[in-house]
Amino acid sequence: MKSRSATEWREFWRTRGERELGGVLAEYEPCATRVATLLGSRAPREALVAELARIREHELHLAPSPARDAEVAERVLTWFEASEGSFTLAATDGLARAGVVHTAHGDVPTPAFMPVGTKGSVKSVDPDELRALGASIVLGNAYHLHFRPGEELIAELGGLHAFTAWDGPILTDSGGFQVFSLRDTLLSADDDGVTFRSVYDGRAERFTPELAARIQEQLGSDIAMCLDICAPAGVTRDDLELAVRRTTQWAERQRDLPRAPGQLRFAITQGGLDPELRTRSSEELVPLGFDGYAIGGLSVGEERAPMFEATALAASLLPAEKPRYFMGIGDPEGVIEVIARGVDMFDCVLPTRTARTGSALTWEGRLNLRNARFARDAGPLDEGCPCPACTRFTRAYIRHLVNQQEILGLRLLSLHNLRFLIDLVAAARRAIERGGFETWRADALSRLTRQPLER
Ligand SMILES: [Zn+2]
Repeated sequence: MKSRSATEWREFWRTRGERELGGVLAEYEPCATRVATLLGSRAPREALVAELARIREHELHLAPSPARDAEVAERVLTWFEASEGSFTLAATDGLARAGVVHTAHGDVPTPAFMPVGTKGSVKSVDPDELRALGASIVLGNAYHLHFRPGEELIAELGGLHAFTAWDGPILTDSGGFQVFSLRDTLLSADDDGVTFRSVYDGRAERFTPELAARIQEQLGSDIAMCLDICAPAGVTRDDLELAVRRTTQWAERQRDLPRAPGQLRFAITQGGLDPELRTRSSEELVPLGFDGYAIGGLSVGEERAPMFEATALAASLLPAEKPRYFMGIGDPEGVIEVIARGVDMFDCVLPTRTARTGSALTWEGRLNLRNARFARDAGPLDEGCPCPACTRFTRAYIRHLVNQQEILGLRLLSLHNLRFLIDLVAAARRAIERGGFETWRADALSRLTRQPLER
């Protein structure tokens, strides 16, 4: 915890604590502010609890309740530590949040869209370009990097930051999604781990929570994800329940394993669309005190309305003072909807995958550049976009590049699509900060859906 003066603590509590902890000190009124300041004083925990008991008995003339004093002290101290740690919540508007995730390689303003560099590269885009597009964090994947080129080789060459020449924050996924989403490669799963065929050479391989943590420690990412069990949409409730149970057991095993210097570790909540299992998963994982929490097991093929409903529930069950990460959403409307439900971070291959199909994300919807109507179109991909594709090249030229399978076409579309999502999320952040998120959201959604999207 940072050292603060009594005045600073009082101010910190007044501006954030009261709101975020919702009246936890109400029973100590009218001494609540003094109690909060006291709890921030860095005195030993036992002395703080004893002082709470003294105030309760001698100043407020209440019956002694040592258990309650200890519980309140614990909640407030945990909040102080966490709010000084991995995340600062800067503003809220409805359920939407603007904040900053603090990592060993720099701050990540949230909401944050994380471009995906599965194999250590955001396809066709170099790190300087990513930086210029406004990306503050990129995602790597423990599954793919483990098999090619291997975490030991990457560690030998200075870790993933040095290896990829990206010196900003990196989040690594554990591989759980790959193992469980590539169903035809899954061989068996048990309480200890999971056995599957590698997509690279078909050999039987085994992942355990310990191995996933070890790979990410070697890679040296800033945020490591727990190995979890991501059940696909439509599995039986028994399977979903098993996924929740093992995900918790595996998170318990991973929590205290060795980490790279300054590495944060996020747990992943599961439970599909089942409210009871979602609740159980969060209630089991939150007390373990991870640095952040992901909402996993959604966006895996279910309908959108129930998915957003499950997102709202899942986010509401997570602690306000920790970052929340929705795994695998990247279409403009979806991004706006999860931000509206209190999500801070998300990732998706959509911008670069869409580019590979010759399509651009724009405020007119998704444009397929192969369409003949762009043959003589001298306008930019998206009016007003400051990206390298829109400032220099026409739709007609990019269409030509796409049709001729020129690499430049793929690159320009990737740069534009990434910039579109990064700018969209930055605009959401500004709207949250000025308290106008709902108006912005309604306007953005109506612009995005004004014309039917081309598929
Ligand atoms: Zn552009």
